[in-house]
Amino acid sequence: IQGVVAIVGRANVGKSTIFNRIVGERVSIVEDIPGVTRDRIYANASWLTRDFRLIDTGGIELEDASFTEQIKMQAEIAIEEADVILFVVNGREGITREDAFVARMLQKSKKPIVLAVNKIDDQVYKDNIYDFYNLGVGDPIAVSGSHGIGIGDILDQIIHLM
Ligand code: GDP
Ligand code: MG
Repeated sequence: IQGVVAIVGRANVGKSTIFNRIVGERVSIVEDIPGVTRDRIYANASWLTRDFRLIDTGGIELEDASFTEQIKMQAEIAIEEADVILFVVNGREGITREDAFVARMLQKSKKPIVLAVNKIDDQVYKDNIYDFYNLGVGDPIAVSGSHGIGIGDILDQIIHLM
């Protein structure tokens, strides 16, 4: 294992879907309702010549915690454990307060960040990514976890930063 990559982002943006794409298996149960997924959290993956450990921090949950407490804890784990952080946002919804909150925490950590703008299933949504420059965590990359688009681009970026 040459590095640790942690996936972070608020509920339902597609973290588990992207995790599964990277790992290359259908290992998680993906549910529409936030908080009901019981996902695999850790896996080993590789891309080109690099082997790395992948953590889906969205699967690490605190009981009876608010969404804000939850994501704060998840971002702290990502910052603590990861060599590279994969920050996932929803390209269909634009920036939310939680996205901005996580972005601020990640910025302060100075860890390398790859910003995946998910749910860009079609070229017509491609321009949605530009808004996410406002998060101040680098260049947004358009992906579609469910269609497997842009996954190679985020992996290239991840191993470049690892
Ligand atoms: P998580 O809570 O961040 O782990 O998000 P999930 O991976 O569980 O996905 C939440 C919902 O978004 C599920 O209904 C997924 O099928 C859906 N989803 C995930 N990726 C995409 C995508 O690229 N495009 C679309 N349209 N839906 C997606
Ligand atoms: Mg999940």
